[in-house]
Amino acid sequence: MSAALAQIPVAKPMLDESEADAARRVILSGWVTQGPEVAAFEREFAALVGAPHACAVSNCTTALHLALKAVGVGPGDEVITVSHSFIATANAVRYCGALPVFVDTTAGDYNIDPDLVAAAITPRTKAILCVHQMGMPCDLSRLIDIARRHAIPLVEDAACAIGSEIFWNGKWEPIGKPHGDIACFSFHPRKVVTTGDGGMLTTANPDYDAKFRLWRQHAMSVADTVRHSSNAVIYESYPELGYNYRMTDMQAAIGREQLRKLPGIVARRRRIATLYGQRLRHIPGLRTPAEPDWCRSNWQSYCVALPERADQRQVMQLLLDRGISTRRGIMNIHLEGAYAEPGACRRSSTLRHSERAQTGSIILPLYAQMSEQEVFRVTEALEHVLALIPLLRAVAPVRPLSSATAG
Ligand SMILES: *Cc1c(COP(=O)(O)O)cnc(C)c1O
Repeated sequence: MSAALAQIPVAKPMLDESEADAARRVILSGWVTQGPEVAAFEREFAALVGAPHACAVSNCTTALHLALKAVGVGPGDEVITVSHSFIATANAVRYCGALPVFVDTTAGDYNIDPDLVAAAITPRTKAILCVHQMGMPCDLSRLIDIARRHAIPLVEDAACAIGSEIFWNGKWEPIGKPHGDIACFSFHPRKVVTTGDGGMLTTANPDYDAKFRLWRQHAMSVADTVRHSSNAVIYESYPELGYNYRMTDMQAAIGREQLRKLPGIVARRRRIATLYGQRLRHIPGLRTPAEPDWCRSNWQSYCVALPERADQRQVMQLLLDRGISTRRGIMNIHLEGAYAEPGACRRSSTLRHSERAQTGSIILPLYAQMSEQEVFRVTEALEHVLALIPLLRAVAPVRPLSSATAG
């Protein structure tokens, strides 16, 4: 009977005819990169998050690179961040020739521990790079306090946090206003809205915004839109090193459609997260994610901490056998080969909560189109699997996992 049930994926982008029409309209317009659609997408994104400036780029990794460069991160500098994140977070630090300094997450959630940030500051610290992990805002008010006290810029990796909110000075504000100096967003399909690939930088600082616009097109002195509409011949110049981090107009047109859908998508995701919480809370030893009363997550991912005794790989396999895809907890960057070489990174604290989150938790399916029946299929299967495991172990003991589990 279970063979007849459709597979439940871990995520699914919400794309339909409106995005297809938007891309088609742009293709037939003849202007296909960093043109009018990109400009409109930037305006609409800025309005959505309440940011004075928004600059579109090719993805969030390039956004992070430009953000760190804009605040002055360069060779020999240190940037305090988490290891418990997608590898792009720390890679962007290394693109600047700087050293990622990893601190742990707190015991209770999957976000950076502000106390450890304060303790990690050295004379070489050039920036703090916090992550709103899985869409859950990190403790911005404490981080900003620390950053201001030490006159260190704060960059927000908001890759997952489009549509998340924080209670700020007595009212709800979108992540990305920004609250730190710069916020960076991703439009990868694994995030809450998508343009295929794509990224956005928001800031209140016009000098930073001007730098982003320069660097994303090889530091070319004249934008294509300006040259195109000029009656006089213009020669461009390239006064410094830049990059090709442009977003195309097809991506931007898709993004504009996605922004229209965002409120509905976030409302639906929040409803599913509530259902998960209600259904999973009573399972012994399972810890559901908590949302502090000062923030509202977009629930880009819903991560549960497994009971001590449960083996992650076995739980995931048994769920997959029942047609339910899950993912392990968020990776730890310091455990990857790319960070094993001497001088690639530094740890400023133990990373035990980060490591525990990678191996001891799993990400459950969550997407806006998910039905309540599908949510209940997941919760019932998880409850069943967790009850089954001790019985299986009594019959055939689980083999110790190989060293490959770090990967
Ligand atoms: C996805 C992600 C990124 C990278 O985003 P891309 O758009 O794929 O470059 C960076 N940081 C975090 C926390 C992410 O989840």
